[in-house]
Amino acid sequence: MSIDFLIIGAGVIGLAVARELKRRHPAAAIVALEKEAAPGRHSSGRNSGVLHSGLYYAPGSLKARLCRQGALEMADWHERHGIPLNRCGKILTPLAVEDAPHMERLYARAKINGVRVEKLDAQDLKTLEPETRSATGEALWIPDTAVGAPAEVLKTLADEVRAAGVEIHNGAELARVDVAARQVTLKQGGRISFGYAINAAGLHADRIAHWFGLGKRYALLPFKGLYWKLKADAGIRLEHLIYPVMDLRTLTLGIHTTPATDGAIYLGPTAVPALGREHYGGLRGLSLLEAPRMLRDLGRMFLHDSEGYRQQAWQEGRRYFRRGFLEAVRALLPNVRAEHLTPDAKVGLHPRIFDRERGALLKDFIVERDAHSLHILGATSPAWTSAFPFARHICEQMTED
Ligand SMILES: Cc1cc2nc3c(=O)[nH]c(=O)nc-3n(C[C@H](O)[C@H](O)[C@H](O)COP(=O)(O)OP(=O)(O)OC[C@H]3O[C@@H](n4cnc5c(N)ncnc54)[C@H](O)[C@@H]3O)c2cc1C
Repeated sequence: MSIDFLIIGAGVIGLAVARELKRRHPAAAIVALEKEAAPGRHSSGRNSGVLHSGLYYAPGSLKARLCRQGALEMADWHERHGIPLNRCGKILTPLAVEDAPHMERLYARAKINGVRVEKLDAQDLKTLEPETRSATGEALWIPDTAVGAPAEVLKTLADEVRAAGVEIHNGAELARVDVAARQVTLKQGGRISFGYAINAAGLHADRIAHWFGLGKRYALLPFKGLYWKLKADAGIRLEHLIYPVMDLRTLTLGIHTTPATDGAIYLGPTAVPALGREHYGGLRGLSLLEAPRMLRDLGRMFLHDSEGYRQQAWQEGRRYFRRGFLEAVRALLPNVRAEHLTPDAKVGLHPRIFDRERGALLKDFIVERDAHSLHILGATSPAWTSAFPFARHICEQMTED
């Protein structure tokens, strides 16, 4: 088989790129390879579904440039396709008095990034979300953050892409690349020759980029996101996304509430190191081959305390257990008790990218390319929110070649 564009991975990024490519090159032959039986079995189908406002990201970064526009387009996608969307808005609250300067920094960054933000006093907070605790009495209100439905988005997006003429090959895993011949071999058998390849393989993207001879300084570190649910009979009414104020240097957003479109309230996710690219639970997905490298990279970050990682490792490690998780929830919502929570089956893995030269995790999306391939590395949050403008950015990068 010989085609113009080969897309590796049919998560939200691979599908959004397929859609954009087909718009720009209607006559091109485009194939998206997906190793699972259907699209969206990894990060794109296991996330919180938050349409982020773009408030956290360093001005000028890809995340800051793509997230705000992405949220508008993703919300529009929901509405045009009749997919439920909860336009609930988000509260950011300081959990300690020492967080007050972090809150000011977040407020300033929101303004720079063009995100609507307001300051709330104790009375406003009590009126808006009475269960929420603030150590200073103040909080921030971000009205434009919403919660969508990732699984339904993936399904409609896959349908639209197929209808436009892109072939999605499910159960087709790329296993080998002959870069000089521009040909890939599938694990299930069969070869495909391509003009240009786009690697959107999420948790496997760094490994595939290395096969193409690119991005060798980057290696993936997976972090496990576990969720709990608030029981419907807990008697605790929550209507908004409620997040702790975080230090902008840290890598995680902290345990927060997500009011899903089906009415369930999720708490989480954690960001606990995993020892395999698909290490979702127990021994399932644990990689004996890759775990030593992952432990070494984590150890390096711990030793150098990159981005305050030591404190984060300690904090996140505790949250793996019910008691530590409950502690984090109660810092935000003091009335929640252990019997109000139930563990949820949803588990996602964040594909964080470790830069071996700097010995630290990267915060922005990374795109590596040469004349015949492009690789999307570290497509962590808010890649789901940013998917449509991110796809345009990728196509523009390809055009430069
Ligand atoms: C717990 C958690 C919560 C999150 N919450 C949010 C949120 O609220 N808002 C937000 O914007 N973002 C969120 N994110 C991030 C978001 O989910 C991801 O950034 C996004 O889904 C990445 O999409 P992707 O297409 O790059 O990766 P994926 O969805 O992982 O897709 C990659 C695909 O490639 C396939 N693949 C891999 N290797 C091969 C191969 N060799 N051959 C063929 N196919 C292959 C995989 O099977 C997979 O389907 C969250 C992530 C996690 C883990």
